[in-house]
Amino acid sequence: MKRQFEVIKRDGAARVGKLNLSDKIVSTPYMLKTKEELELVREQIGENGELKVEVIDDVEKIPLGIGADLVILGGAVRFEKDPRGLSAALTTIREGVNADSALYTPALATPENVSLLVYAGVDVIDGILAEAKATEGFFLHDDGEERFQDAQLPQCTCDACQQIEDLKSRPFEKSVEIASQHNKNALQAELYRISARVSRGTLRELVEGRCRASTTLTALLRLLDENYDYFEKRAPIVRTSTMLACAQESVNRVEIRRFSERVITRLKQRHGILLLLPCSAKKPYSTSMSHKMILSSIWKFRRSINEAIISSPIGVIPRSLECVYPPSNYDVPVTGTWICDETKWVSARLGEYLKANSFDVILAHVSGPYKDVCDEAATLFQTDVIYTTINEDVLSSASLNNLKEVMQGLIKEHQPPKRDLRFDYIRDTIDYQFGKGVSDHIFSDSPKIRGIYPTYHASSNGVRIATIVKPYGTTTLTIPGARRYLERFEGHYCVYIDDFVPKGTVFAVGVLSADPIIRPYDEVVVLNDEVVATGRALMSGWEMQSSTRGGAVVIRHIEKR
Ligand SMILES: [Zn+2]
Repeated sequence: MKRQFEVIKRDGAARVGKLNLSDKIVSTPYMLKTKEELELVREQIGENGELKVEVIDDVEKIPLGIGADLVILGGAVRFEKDPRGLSAALTTIREGVNADSALYTPALATPENVSLLVYAGVDVIDGILAEAKATEGFFLHDDGEERFQDAQLPQCTCDACQQIEDLKSRPFEKSVEIASQHNKNALQAELYRISARVSRGTLRELVEGRCRASTTLTALLRLLDENYDYFEKRAPIVRTSTMLACAQESVNRVEIRRFSERVITRLKQRHGILLLLPCSAKKPYSTSMSHKMILSSIWKFRRSINEAIISSPIGVIPRSLECVYPPSNYDVPVTGTWICDETKWVSARLGEYLKANSFDVILAHVSGPYKDVCDEAATLFQTDVIYTTINEDVLSSASLNNLKEVMQGLIKEHQPPKRDLRFDYIRDTIDYQFGKGVSDHIFSDSPKIRGIYPTYHASSNGVRIATIVKPYGTTTLTIPGARRYLERFEGHYCVYIDDFVPKGTVFAVGVLSADPIIRPYDEVVVLNDEVVATGRALMSGWEMQSSTRGGAVVIRHIEKR
């Protein structure tokens, strides 16, 4: 049977999609507005109509293989003041049903909480609670609710609010009628905002802002953030939008934790001399004025050392991954001081980084909070750090000269081998994307590196193997590169398709199986008996298997096997 729901865009667990409601196709996230729409959904429950609707009252007992177009969380309203119960219910129900089932939470949405509902994975809402709040005498807003008697008029510029002159002189029923309309208008306006945010990949920033007005919502976001696996398996590996880290909760974003974990678990171990530098406002860091000044003072030593950047909230960024999201595009409020939690988080990441690698010497050209981080990590890891900044001014001539002199002495003493730094970028992004050891296998014969920063490409015996592409800073494999990859890693980051030659986009319906580790925007190898291709995933690997609709992979290169 043809599915009636299709996901068009994803932003983590949040989605923009199309739902076929009887005779009309609506865009989700969608609010069922009229009695007729609510009735239509109710009538389809358990029936074998066009739209397959199932109600799940107990999320702990979801029957296996639920493939409904629309799944209803029965009694969702009981979670209105229960963030823990709601967080568990939403994540459990979405994990228990097919990826291409839309999720509806009846009588739960308000303008204030709807961004979090969608963020957690809700696709369909209604105006029932917004109407009920009006009968209780409340106006609703995206930052809370207000009693009729406390309300300044008009509440907003919506049609309903334009009818209000003096609320006090009206009968209560009339006020309820206006408030009911206003509440639903406010809900719809917020829903439009959310859809745009999902499309741009910036819903998290809206959600972090909305939480500030409510302790219940802040609790809900923190509880949702505890479900790292749930959000990580849905989070794209790259974004072109800037990640704004303005809230305490920003550090809990899955992208930040995933980046730190991959730096530790996937990259090739490094040795020799490490130079730690502070982050810069301009990204990538090496294009900033401060980094240009520092790097120009040590340019002749750069091929002999390892550079890493310290940043809150990202942690430690090897220079070779500066063009990869999230280090490539994030922004934080700059005050010159870090809160205790930031220092603790970043120093723990630095400690892990030092432990995962095997450096002989650690140099830090830092000041202020960056020095506190290095001190804490050094204590944690029981190692020595050589500081090269004089009088807390990283960019002064005295500091830069000191850095140069200290480094010259260390290089003379340790005689580290020289590397092609452009190769670092390709090798580390390959491992960051595909996993530990992949670059060692693909580049076992020392490739030639060409290209202009940061779009380097690697060739072997005149055949191109891999290229870093804009705007994501990720590395794509060519077909010869994919063939080398398949020799050792077949199955890993692979999508197996039915018996056809793909052109343009491979749709989920044509996918036989896919590696569940694949995330949206991952580079993947697509194959069947006839062809081998490379491309960019549009959805997660587990979702390709669980869905029957929607684009799964955009093909870049293809060849007969
Ligand atoms: Zn209004």
